Amino acid sequence: SHSHGDVRRQERARRVLVFPLPFQGHINPMLQLADVLHGRGLAVTVLHTQFNALDPALHPEFTFVAVPDGIPADVAASGSIIPIILAMNAAMEASSAVHDVLASVLADDGQPPAACMFIDANLLAVQKAASALGLPTMVLRTGSAACFSCFLAYPMLHHNGYLPPKESQLYTPVKELPPLRVRDLFVTSSSDHEMVRKVLSRASETVRNSSGLVVNTFDALEAAELDRIRRELDVPVVLAAGPLHKLSSRSTGSSLLREDRSCMEWLDKQAVGSVLYVSFGSLASMDGAELCEVAWGLADSGQPFLWVVRRDLVRGSDGPGLPEGFDRAVEGRGKVIPWAPQQEVLAHFAVGGFWTHNGWNSTLEGVGEGLPMICMPHFADQMMNTRYVEAVWGVGFELEGKKERNKIAKAIQKLMNEREGELAREKARELKKKVAACLESGGSSMLAIDKLVEHISSL
Ligand code: UDP
Repeated sequence: SHSHGDVRRQERARRVLVFPLPFQGHINPMLQLADVLHGRGLAVTVLHTQFNALDPALHPEFTFVAVPDGIPADVAASGSIIPIILAMNAAMEASSAVHDVLASVLADDGQPPAACMFIDANLLAVQKAASALGLPTMVLRTGSAACFSCFLAYPMLHHNGYLPPKESQLYTPVKELPPLRVRDLFVTSSSDHEMVRKVLSRASETVRNSSGLVVNTFDALEAAELDRIRRELDVPVVLAAGPLHKLSSRSTGSSLLREDRSCMEWLDKQAVGSVLYVSFGSLASMDGAELCEVAWGLADSGQPFLWVVRRDLVRGSDGPGLPEGFDRAVEGRGKVIPWAPQQEVLAHFAVGGFWTHNGWNSTLEGVGEGLPMICMPHFADQMMNTRYVEAVWGVGFELEGKKERNKIAKAIQKLMNEREGELAREKARELKKKVAACLESGGSSMLAIDKLVEHISSL
């Protein structure tokens, strides 16, 4: 009942606010962190934008507050993440809306006093509003430590001539940030370099202005990269507290799209380790011809597969538009769904490989289940995640260049049935053990959460 909820809330001594960037890959880890902190006795208030608004019904244990985001309709409709980040921050800085909402959230005396607010690094405008109200901020980085370390190095990368990237130097090693090459550095030759530079420098500023940084990674995965961040940043704590999806008690509940659960029954009927799970995340898109090559590559591989084809996966069309004859060709062996309960799928016994775009969450989720990967990065940090998968952890390989059905079918065979895939699978199993170790009591991520809770109570 309502009054029972109030009583329970009052028992919690402190409260944290959380404000994710409104994209799936940023929402998931923030709500997982919120769940972990709630499990440690803290009350949680979730602030969210109207754009990609969250559904409070999915988390009855949290309080939800909507914040006007001021994103112009045409920018929102573009779906392009960097312009949306910049437009949202500009609108928030131009109005007092965030300040006013925050002030009223802080004044709510039906709630325990707020210790701090966890924000996405892309919300500098929110950091400034909190700071004006005397509320400390903590940043959750939803990408890798390598990625944030690269953000910090951005001025140096420009200064030393790596950026903007030149077509002839894409494979030049960046000796300051091994094992990255120029092509792995967050940008492509078609990026709007000024926009990228602005977004990354604002993200670094958000962290520098905050009382600590939590990175969704773990020590054994990125020790050198975490060290680099700690050397370069002067903030009270830098904690590696991931993989958050493994620490959080719930695996679902923050999907913006409806999960098609029919795939779980389908997986139940497949042989152990036989299925390739294929997903390119929540944002990546391709053209109709590429979709066609992917489809026939899957069909020609002969391998069982589960493929997520979002309604907006193909640029400029509504609906998947799979090639004629495809359904018949893969009948009984392949399944296509609009959105998956991904973490459950990856943990299913039938899944033996992951063809991914290497968004950081997907990468961590694959690593957490000990799955070898075919990597097909599209943009942002996906190229560098792929580089780490291939050259550092050895748990997969990149499918480079133009998408062609023959190449795709061969890559799938290589991953699922050949020696190279077997080696990647062995490495992936080793890495899965390291994930388990960091989550045990006394493990590095559990200690990081202890330290985080202690830090929160000191604020
Ligand atoms: N995801 C999901 N169902 C799908 C595809 C993706 O639940 O069918 C989730 C996935 O588990 C991950 C998130 O969406 O947590 C995607 O984040 P990621 O960083 O991998 O990529 P992005 O979408 O940001 O490119």
